Amino acid sequence: MKNQPDKSATLLIVDDDPVNIQMLGKILGDKYRILFATSGKEAIAIALSRHPDMILLDIIMPDMDGYTVCYKIREHPATQDIPVIFVTAMEQEHHEVVGLEMGAVDYISKPVNPDIARLRIKNILELSQARIYFKRLAMVDGLTGIYNRRYFDELFTKEWQRSIRAQSPLSIILMDIDFFKGYNDHYGHVEGDTCLKRIAKALKGGVIRTTDTLARYGGEEFVCLMAETDLSGLAVMADKLRSVVVNLKIPHAASQIAEHVTISLGGKTVIPKHSMSQEACLVAVDENLYKAKAQGRNCHVCDLSE
Ligand code: GH3
Ligand code: MG
Ligand code: MG
Repeated sequence: MKNQPDKSATLLIVDDDPVNIQMLGKILGDKYRILFATSGKEAIAIALSRHPDMILLDIIMPDMDGYTVCYKIREHPATQDIPVIFVTAMEQEHHEVVGLEMGAVDYISKPVNPDIARLRIKNILELSQARIYFKRLAMVDGLTGIYNRRYFDELFTKEWQRSIRAQSPLSIILMDIDFFKGYNDHYGHVEGDTCLKRIAKALKGGVIRTTDTLARYGGEEFVCLMAETDLSGLAVMADKLRSVVVNLKIPHAASQIAEHVTISLGGKTVIPKHSMSQEACLVAVDENLYKAKAQGRNCHVCDLSE
């Protein structure tokens, strides 16, 4: 971690009184970029659009109080990691408890002591940056930079439960590079890794919807999970992902079916029920991948789960 405060960090100051914003801006403006909002609604909009590194939040505001703003920030996946500090004249423990319950990380009391405010903000920013770094590390694959198996497993469970409640279709595609052992044997492991990275990047480029997620499933296997997607949508995506890899035209002298690197894909659409098992669903997806391999590779086999 850095010893100096990160000058690129952005703070959002929220207060219905512009005098208070000015005062905090004066204390912090030389070290941080400052955004400000004079209402809770405005604060939430700015948090979503600008994604500040920290929010300094007044509690008593006319339209929406600070507690509610904090709760909404915590609730939204896009803003839930932004640390919130309450800046308040109310020093009673009761208010601190409510604020901390709403997910605030700390308090600064008014009148603000500039040295204490600067140090608290610096410490919290460093902790928050470390937390975000480790959270990312735990869910991202080191080689390819896409989500890892752990992240996929967690997401799959969440989406499975959500689909049971909504009785909506969930689609899954497993992908496996064709003759990749031969690729490594022919070009070497380092080139093999480069190939994996290029394929991951190309697949990611093909996964556009926010409800679709790509992850590295295993060594040379990838998975794409698509919420709210039926069988026709699944088939379109499977062929799209197959094509993006073909279009890379990565030479593959050891392939028995093409001059370039290709993938095979197995897909399933399922409307999950409590009586079904996620594991059995993945086994069924894998069986379709195996069928695609048996049908000659560089193709997909997709169907509905019974
Ligand atoms: P198929 O078309 O039937 O899938 O044949 P294949 O050779 O791709 O299948 P197999 O499962 O026999 O081989 C997978 C190979 O993928 C084995 C291993 O050398 C390679 N591999 C797995 N993970 C990595 C990795 O992280 N880096 C590299 N370079 N190679 C990997
Ligand atoms: Mg494999
Ligand atoms: Mg393979």
